[in-house]
Amino acid sequence: MQLYSDKAYSSPYWNEYLETMPRQQLDQLHLRRLQKLIKYAYENIPMYGDLYDKAGVKPEDIKTLDDFAEKIPLIDKPDLVKYQSYDPPFGGTIVKDSEDYLTFYFQTSGTTGTPLKEIGYYRDMLSTGWVFKWWAHGIRPKDVFYFAFPFGTFMAFWCAYYDAVALGSQVITAGGLNTEQRVKQIQELKPTVLVATPTYAMRIAEVAREMGVDPAQTSIKYITSAGEQGYVVQTIRDAAEKAWGAKAIDLYGLSDLWGSTSWHCPSNADRMHLTESIAYGLVLDDNGNVMPDGGKGEFILTNYATVMPLIKYRTHDVVEWHKEACDCGRTWLWLRDGVLGRTDQMVTIKGTNVYPTAIQGIIGNIDGLSEHLEIHFDSGEGGDSVSVKVEAEPDIATDKYDALKEKLSEDLRYRIGVGMKMEILPPKSLPRYELKAKRVFDHREKKK
Ligand SMILES: [Zn+2]
Repeated sequence: MQLYSDKAYSSPYWNEYLETMPRQQLDQLHLRRLQKLIKYAYENIPMYGDLYDKAGVKPEDIKTLDDFAEKIPLIDKPDLVKYQSYDPPFGGTIVKDSEDYLTFYFQTSGTTGTPLKEIGYYRDMLSTGWVFKWWAHGIRPKDVFYFAFPFGTFMAFWCAYYDAVALGSQVITAGGLNTEQRVKQIQELKPTVLVATPTYAMRIAEVAREMGVDPAQTSIKYITSAGEQGYVVQTIRDAAEKAWGAKAIDLYGLSDLWGSTSWHCPSNADRMHLTESIAYGLVLDDNGNVMPDGGKGEFILTNYATVMPLIKYRTHDVVEWHKEACDCGRTWLWLRDGVLGRTDQMVTIKGTNVYPTAIQGIIGNIDGLSEHLEIHFDSGEGGDSVSVKVEAEPDIATDKYDALKEKLSEDLRYRIGVGMKMEILPPKSLPRYELKAKRVFDHREKKK
């Protein structure tokens, strides 16, 4: 007995019509949806009415996608926090009189310390961004999902949970169990898909080995992640796939933008496709101009949400975008190597732009160094500087640390072009995290 037809089961697409829609037709669809969304937001969401009046733009001025890119103002997290503060809790950021549609509540930290309050309708949560990805990689309703997260406020895995239900799979909730208990449960219930952040998936593997269990011999066939730099980066993917003997599939999204996710292409492991059925993406340079195909800049997203849509929202993530159709058959735009860095985490040292992700990639390529690392930015009289702390792998003798340090120092200087301070530490020197690992620490004085 199966949930869908044989034809559907063998298709590589969850929704072939949408995923393979020719670019021109897809852009026409986006234009129609954006025009409707802008009119709806302008008339019903006080923040947009105010912002668009100030910018001197009316919904009817948006006749093309170029108009949308040029005339509609960008919004940023502090704007949302500000408009929420006028009339808490949600203030002018949601559709007026929409109480019947306020279903799921989350919050994320704001830059000023005031959290951004996020509210959405259940259909926004059930955007199936994860299902497109899972289906593309061969996961079907007969698969069994294991959710190794504490069901806290990490929105990505709540979306994943509802999407696994939407897919029709069995879901196992590990909830409040500790890591050892989770390993035992994986052995007992034999799930095939592990949902965990990349850091925590490696932690479970580490604990399993300490218990005498080889994670590569368990029932897990896929590990699927979100929340931090992940499996689109080859070194992180290779480490996870080796540890679990499973396929590692990545997803990138912002909890601020319900379900507007980009996910791992099944044919090209360095590509992430934006789920264009639920979001519209642009890549802009520092002056707000649209970057050409293949260009790098800040990813600007719009989600087609019901009560709290975000229109031209700044992600502060730097990406390289491509709009030519992918050889997996999808026309949805793709990002090479996922997120390349943060616009607010870039450090310029002697004229060279340095992103933490680039440093991480280089560390991951050196045998003997583990994925446990910290990158610190400081400012001093000579300008900004970077220092790096990395744990060696457990089987590396301490008298080899100097050689590792020299190798890392050389590689960083050669690949990035600047010198950095670094320390090689014994295993377990740095803190471990259950959800998102904190790897980047910015101690620079905030510029006014
Ligand atoms: Zn593709």
